[in-house]
Amino acid sequence: LDQNLQKLNGHLARFRESGILNRIAGEDRPGSAGTFQSTSPVDKSVICDVARADESDVDQAAEAAAAAFPAWRDMPALERKKILINVAEAIEARAEEIALCECWDTGQTWRFMSKAALRGAENFRYFADQVTAARDGQHLKSPTLMNVTTRTPIGPVGVITPWNTPFMLSTWKIAPALAAGCTVVHKPAEDSPLTARLLVEIAEEAGLPPGVLNTVNGYGHDAGKRLTEHPAIKAIAFVGESRTGSIITKQGADTLKRMHLELGGKNPVIVFDDCDFERALDAVIFMIYSINGERCTSSSRLLIQDTIKAEFEARLIERVNNIKVGHPLDPATEIGPIVTQEHYNKVTSYFDIAKEDGATVAAGGVTVGDEGYFVRPTLFTNANNKMRIAREEIFGPVLTSIPFTTEEEALAMANDTQYGLTGYIWTNDLTRALRFSDKLEAGMIWVNSENVRHLPAPFGGVKASGIGRDGGDWSFEFYMEQKNIAFAT
Ligand code: NAD
Repeated sequence: LDQNLQKLNGHLARFRESGILNRIAGEDRPGSAGTFQSTSPVDKSVICDVARADESDVDQAAEAAAAAFPAWRDMPALERKKILINVAEAIEARAEEIALCECWDTGQTWRFMSKAALRGAENFRYFADQVTAARDGQHLKSPTLMNVTTRTPIGPVGVITPWNTPFMLSTWKIAPALAAGCTVVHKPAEDSPLTARLLVEIAEEAGLPPGVLNTVNGYGHDAGKRLTEHPAIKAIAFVGESRTGSIITKQGADTLKRMHLELGGKNPVIVFDDCDFERALDAVIFMIYSINGERCTSSSRLLIQDTIKAEFEARLIERVNNIKVGHPLDPATEIGPIVTQEHYNKVTSYFDIAKEDGATVAAGGVTVGDEGYFVRPTLFTNANNKMRIAREEIFGPVLTSIPFTTEEEALAMANDTQYGLTGYIWTNDLTRALRFSDKLEAGMIWVNSENVRHLPAPFGGVKASGIGRDGGDWSFEFYMEQKNIAFAT
């Protein structure tokens, strides 16, 4: 911990001294709306001032992205690939700095963020390879025409990201946009600006031309809103709450923006009594208590078969009570502080809501100290699927356990939610797993596994969890336009 803190202080010195400026057309620019402060959830201290963009700054960023677009679009694919691989290598070289800053900015723990920074590099490397490997057209047979379909980058795009694992999520959107030949204006979440700044800096040092990636800091209702409305911006890749997804869809309507929305979830993990008990237990714990539970794909609803409920919950309580809450930079820490005071208030409000609804607080349900925004990992039992703790996205280390008797009952409860991002099924009956996954309303399902990402596979949700997919060629579908050219034969 001491070593990590010492290194962190070294890295924060430059932010403390000069704050975080917007990056537009390869230049540092102050915010026309002044500044706002970024604070750490670990001890509530101010990290630095952050430039606050207004509409005019967003306009400049969009114009810079538009000006940089033709040259980036027309750059030979191999050259673009080389630059993106340089970015991946540069991220790897500064992965420790990124992880330390991310932990301090968001409260995420070192044990997970040190890997997430490298995942950011992997995102760049994967999509760099796709620059030359992606499907670039198709040949449709016709007696009189030869159809050739090509793809061309859609233009400058806006990327709007949330505060949870912000570095990894930003690279997941920005890397494919750049690989496709789009230029980007990125508006990171106002609560976690540090690593977005590191990313644009690293990318430019690695050879990304000025204006190809621009970063504007600021609030959703002004800077974010303007980005979704700007006519030069052709598409918006958005990750955040379902409610915000709906608002930005309206904002983008006048300029007919293409939207990709990755939104909230209340994901079920369904544990049948014929599962591998120990593996299921590990996975249930991992999928809600890792990353502080601030993860869109977390399984926040445990549907447990009544035949094994008592034993499973008893083992769960024992394990949850042993989870180490503490300083995020301590490598032994499993759960760090909740990202902001506002979010901490939201998460802790469910401790009372659970009791009012008649559930039992079987573990946690308490805060830890008052230096930062720490809570004990929490488990609610004696719950049913109608309670608010089973319906609303809490987005913290809080799990609601609900029993079921039959497969039909489990399926009905799993689908009885406005969301549909992920689902996790634990059973050794593979016919049942297939039958269940076929009916489960979710964009991504893991059977006998926790969430393990495979970059070429499609990522995204159904219902209020989102519209659109990315990953593999799906990312290029979003960032590119299809064009069909028919030759008479
Ligand atoms: P949020 O919706 O409050 O904010 C996300 C981003 O949108 C921020 O950058 C914010 O400034 C911006 N924004 C807000 N209002 C805007 C507006 N009117 N116009 C343009 N931009 C606007 O979300 P959050 O609280 O930062 O993040 C947590 C949420 O993100 C959770 O609901 C979580 O499930 C979701 N999430 C989803 C995925 C996924 O892949 N489905 C991944 C991570 C997080």
